[in-house]
Amino acid sequence: MSRTVLITGGSRGLGADLVAAFLEMGDNVATCSRSRTAEVAAWAEAHPDRFHHELVDLADAAAVESLVPGVIDRFGSIDVLVNNAGVARDGVLPLFSDASIDEMIDLNLRGTIHLTRLVVRRMLIQRAGKIINVSSVVGQTGYRGLSVYSATKAALDGFTRSLARELGSRGITVNSVAPGYLRTEMTHGLDAAQMQQIVRRTPAGRLGEPQDVAAAVRFLASEEAAFITGHVLVVDGGLTA
Ligand code: NAP
Repeated sequence: MSRTVLITGGSRGLGADLVAAFLEMGDNVATCSRSRTAEVAAWAEAHPDRFHHELVDLADAAAVESLVPGVIDRFGSIDVLVNNAGVARDGVLPLFSDASIDEMIDLNLRGTIHLTRLVVRRMLIQRAGKIINVSSVVGQTGYRGLSVYSATKAALDGFTRSLARELGSRGITVNSVAPGYLRTEMTHGLDAAQMQQIVRRTPAGRLGEPQDVAAAVRFLASEEAAFITGHVLVVDGGLTA
């Protein structure tokens, strides 16, 4: 029987690479975002039986409630949850607006926790499941201008560790993948000097590509990783080594 993988924020960036990777493996893939991109339309056309997209704002608790039943109605189970959707706003803390702080906490943390709670209720019935939270190395090291974002990502790693302890005996693994700096829209805000500095400090000598992270997520979602839980897998080319 095919697995069903729910990936949040699959319309672009890392999430789009994750959707493509799991579709390529033959899985049923469900994703959500606030907008429908050309990639989403193309997947819906190419895989009408295996691809499901819902327009959902994950920061809206009521909207999140409808996502899980929608995926279950379509595919019958959720075997893997990848909490990928996230937002980063940069700025020094004294100048941060309430709206920017709330936006990051509401999506990166509150939305992720709400959705995970709903999916875990299903996984407990199945007595199986794999949850992968996409955090970030800045949750461990910090980065000037990313204090609130870093707080949400460090919190996600704490969520991963505690939930792994809660669910280990129920056949459910929970892990984080913590990427370094990736070449996606999220890092377009970094200027050339910042980019060069990051590359200079990275032993692998380049920025990460979404495919580097997709490979780690695929591994943690596989049976090969059955005995790995509560782990934060850093994928950063050695930046934080
Ligand atoms: P991205 O290019 O900005 O894509 C974010 C995705 O999330 C999009 O599909 C977006 O679609 C969706 N999304 C945003 N807000 C949403 C909301 N309120 N409800 C539902 N979906 C929402 O980001 P990315 O660079 O791929 O990052 C993906 C993950 O990796 C994030 O958790 C990020 O923190 C983490 N990460 C990224 C980097 C990096 O260097 N890029 C490094 C470390 C960690 P819509 O806008 O249409 O909703």
